[in-house]
Amino acid sequence: MTIVSLCRFVRDIWDRAMDRCYHLFPCLSDPVRRSSLGLKLALVTLHLIYAGILFLFDEGLIEKTKQEPWYTSLYLCLFFATLVQYFITSSSSPGYVIDAMRTINEANSRMQKAAMASKQPASSNNGSLVITVDGSQSGKNLLASNSMSWSKVVMDMYPPGTSARTWTCSYCNVEQPPRAKHCHDCDKCVLQFDHHCVWLGTCIGQGNHCRFWWYICEETALCLWTGILYISYLKANISRAWLLLCQDHYLERWKDAVMIVLLITLSISLIFLLLLLIFHSYLILTNQTTYELVRRRRIPYLRGIPERVYPFSKGVCTNLYDFCCARGSIYKMESLPTAQEIHEKSRPYSCLDVMTCRCC
Ligand SMILES: [Zn+2]
Ligand SMILES: [Zn+2]
Repeated sequence: MTIVSLCRFVRDIWDRAMDRCYHLFPCLSDPVRRSSLGLKLALVTLHLIYAGILFLFDEGLIEKTKQEPWYTSLYLCLFFATLVQYFITSSSSPGYVIDAMRTINEANSRMQKAAMASKQPASSNNGSLVITVDGSQSGKNLLASNSMSWSKVVMDMYPPGTSARTWTCSYCNVEQPPRAKHCHDCDKCVLQFDHHCVWLGTCIGQGNHCRFWWYICEETALCLWTGILYISYLKANISRAWLLLCQDHYLERWKDAVMIVLLITLSISLIFLLLLLIFHSYLILTNQTTYELVRRRRIPYLRGIPERVYPFSKGVCTNLYDFCCARGSIYKMESLPTAQEIHEKSRPYSCLDVMTCRCC
């Protein structure tokens, strides 16, 4: 049997095995879903390796677990909560423009039908709080009182005279509200687009930014706690390690070497996560997105606005409240600020502003 025929034989077996696998699990036939599942599997494996080795090598931790079970229980709770948060965030919708458009158009047609049936104008009872628009006409609840098409809603969010080409996506041909952007990985426009997260396999936008922040917060805490446990193990073994250096206890030294390598990689991950957490906390407090911050000079609606002015910020407290607690509507969109609002925000701080907490 030649090498070529052997390769063909192996490939045939592999193809048949894969076909059977796709038949049993149809979701695996899609390459996107396959890579997403692979990512999730890699993440769970990584977590299991870091925590598993700790419990496997650290006899002191096992002893501590027997004496103080609450300590290990708390650690395991954080471990599982982080994994659950990861799966929830990766499977949540970032808030696609197409979904918002469909929602508003469907509600609009429902209201029109109801109005025609009763021969009366649509009342506020017919509309549910589906979409809210913040801006100069602050707190306007669409569909609560008027029926409006998606195009009209989007048009009203831009200054008068803005060309329709400015807000129409050239890829999916939908009208984008301000702060929305087309994601080439998802092939959809995302409301308040932040970035496409490869690690989560989804976009981060208006719909899941809060969940994303909680995920990195939990992951940072878990990383920090695991790092402390690794350091405690190495600290307890360091004097013993020096003694064992003169003897033939290779297994102990090998264990320590593995723990040191894992601790180094863990420390690098922790620094990255901490920076990411601080960065996203800053974005939340100033009501910005990563995309707006990085591409500030290239985004038409941010051009000409002074560097230190955050056009969508409503004050630190309101920004934080909106981010964490404002769950009144499914989709929340923001109008572009007027020239007067930008002028007001760019005004230098006076003593009175500091005393009245203008930034809050
Ligand atoms: Zn698009
Ligand atoms: Zn995306």
